Amino acid sequence: MKPASFDYHAPATLAEALELLGDDAVESRVLAGGQSLVPMMNFRLAVPEALVDLRRIEELRYLRTGADGALEVGARTTQAELLRDPAVAAGWPLLHAGVTHVGHPQVRSRGTVCGSLAHHDPHGELPALALALGATITVAGPDGRRRIAAEDFFVSFYEVALESGEMVVEARFPAPPAGSGWSFREIARRHGDFALVGVACLVAPAETRLVVFGAAERPLLLADPGEVAAAVRPLDDLHASAEYRRQVAVQLAGEALAEARERAGG
Ligand SMILES: Cc1cc2nc3c(=O)[nH]c(=O)nc-3n(C[C@H](O)[C@H](O)[C@H](O)COP(=O)(O)OP(=O)(O)OC[C@H]3O[C@@H](n4cnc5c(N)ncnc54)[C@H](O)[C@@H]3O)c2cc1C
Repeated sequence: MKPASFDYHAPATLAEALELLGDDAVESRVLAGGQSLVPMMNFRLAVPEALVDLRRIEELRYLRTGADGALEVGARTTQAELLRDPAVAAGWPLLHAGVTHVGHPQVRSRGTVCGSLAHHDPHGELPALALALGATITVAGPDGRRRIAAEDFFVSFYEVALESGEMVVEARFPAPPAGSGWSFREIARRHGDFALVGVACLVAPAETRLVVFGAAERPLLLADPGEVAAAVRPLDDLHASAEYRRQVAVQLAGEALAEARERAGG
């Protein structure tokens, strides 16, 4: 299938992009890597009147460490660029390990980190990783910028806490504290497929962040694997039953917590 007709804009600055998105008379959508939006448009699951393509906006293309040591990822940065950066592999090994499970190299070479967060497929790796790492998402819109904690950003299936006219400009991943351990596990039918269910876990000296994904309408942050069976709300679909997903979630959570504790040194 082909998409319905739409207007196409490729602004050169963030300010121009925000002006286009702020026009209430037109239903516009951001086009980042197009790896989810274009298939949705081809199937007419999304029928935007206009696309605002980020590809020319150089100010959104960065991957850097901020003054507070957090990893700052601009909205044009691809998943492949993140994987290629040795500072990410060394400083944010959980993020690096999890993103290797996103699709295939072809998908990651176009798909963006922020696009994956904004899209919020509950089976996607990046929303779970953002939650496990205590990330914040910076959004910009007609009223300026605001930062949203990952806990508050993912609302439900394909729904995030963006207001009309707003877009994601940056994701910030705090540096894991010294002495942290991590683990990432998922079950998928083939490597690169969306997870049937998965777990991202960070054990830091002051707190444990255990995130189960693919098992509810959004990734779930839990304190203990003992909570998983009661907390998850998995769906039955043609890939797996809800009961299978529940059992796998419990198993993966236990394994991930043990591995993260071992990496943390106890
Ligand atoms: C074959 C295939 C396999 C895949 N496998 C996986 C997988 O295993 N795991 C996984 O997580 N993903 C997978 N994906 C999806 C991929 O990760 C996408 O790249 C990602 O979901 C969306 O990122 P994007 O940059 O391509 O966004 P787009 O497709 O351009 O946009 C997706 C949605 O997010 C919105 N959006 C994008 N950027 C912004 C922004 N900055 N601000 C506001 N809204 C924005 C768009 O308007 C749109 O609604 C797969 C895709 C394909 C084609």
